[in-house]
Amino acid sequence: MDHPHKQPNEVEQLKNQLLKQVAWYCMGLHACLIITFLYVGVELLAIVNIMSVATWWFGIKLLERAQQSLALRIFSLEVTIHSILVCAIIGIDYGFQFYLWAASCLLLLDTQLKLKQAVLWCTMIIIMFACTYLVFEQPTQHINYDQFAPYLHFLNVVVCGIPMIYTIGLIREITIGQQDELEMLAAHDSLTHLFNRRYAHNLIQQAYRSCMNNQQPICVVMADIDHFKRVNDQYGHEQGDEIIERVAQCLTQHLNNADIAVRWGGEEFLLVLPGYSMLKAQKHLEIIRQAIEAMTFTNAALQITMSFGVAQWQAKCDFETVLKQADIALYKSKHKGRNTITSAPNSH
Ligand code: GH3
Ligand code: MG
Ligand code: MG
Repeated sequence: MDHPHKQPNEVEQLKNQLLKQVAWYCMGLHACLIITFLYVGVELLAIVNIMSVATWWFGIKLLERAQQSLALRIFSLEVTIHSILVCAIIGIDYGFQFYLWAASCLLLLDTQLKLKQAVLWCTMIIIMFACTYLVFEQPTQHINYDQFAPYLHFLNVVVCGIPMIYTIGLIREITIGQQDELEMLAAHDSLTHLFNRRYAHNLIQQAYRSCMNNQQPICVVMADIDHFKRVNDQYGHEQGDEIIERVAQCLTQHLNNADIAVRWGGEEFLLVLPGYSMLKAQKHLEIIRQAIEAMTFTNAALQITMSFGVAQWQAKCDFETVLKQADIALYKSKHKGRNTITSAPNSH
């Protein structure tokens, strides 16, 4: 897009999409009203509706240019002027005042307006709606087919209600989506999308309790990329980040749904493997170790390896203890020359 505004985020895009749908709906509605007012012999209102169609079309163009705030203000103004004019000319029997009711909340969506200002404007529109019953009781012009007034009134109420239900429903969905996203962000590390340390704690305890209850083994693994400082120094921090990301992907690919992978620190990962005996964990880690060793990068000279320390989590043992055991085993792997797996001796 070639407009000077910053790229709107996903929620703003969704809101924009929703407003565009509502705007098309309103434009269609005004087009129908041109024909209706011509048919019933109120030419002035037919002309007003031609201008309304043009206004909504202009608003859609603004939305396409991501100028949502301006579009919302124009829409609110159009609805207000249109409703008041129609009620002033043909009275309130046809229910055109309900467009004020429907539009009253529109300005609340304008996030560039302060809440107080938006509430004030919306309240003014609602007061105008209430005033239509006092001011426009007597129409200035009678229209042909006025026996259809109750039906048109009914239709207008329904037509006004639908976008309100649609809008509030969609905002509800956006809010739920945002909550999910916030939970995701709080639980995961942004670079690797693995669980972060803080969030993983509860998951790990749950997995442990479940294994103990079902008399299943469970293993805890500390894994650390070898000589990562050297890789960073030699190939740069960005390349380092890519390696961390790729290692995380490789770990995820080799794990089951019940397994827990956590970015424990910079280039350090914690794996919790429910249902794994020490032997099974060792075999599985060997596959992962080989996969990481075989990883290729755009820079063909680059190769990385990873060291592992694994401990079986015994009954009545707290997490800190098993973690320490896995950490000592990892340290041994480093000491042995790296790119290897060491099991904690007292956890068999
Ligand atoms: P060892 O084989 O003993 O583990 O050596 P090492 O160099 O991997 O270990 P060390 O702890 O000395 O260095 C870890 C380095 O990881 C230092 C730090 O700059 C780097 N690092 C930590 N987090 C990140 C990160 O998010 N991105 C990048 N690119 N580097 C990181
Ligand atoms: Mg390291
Ligand atoms: Mg480290």
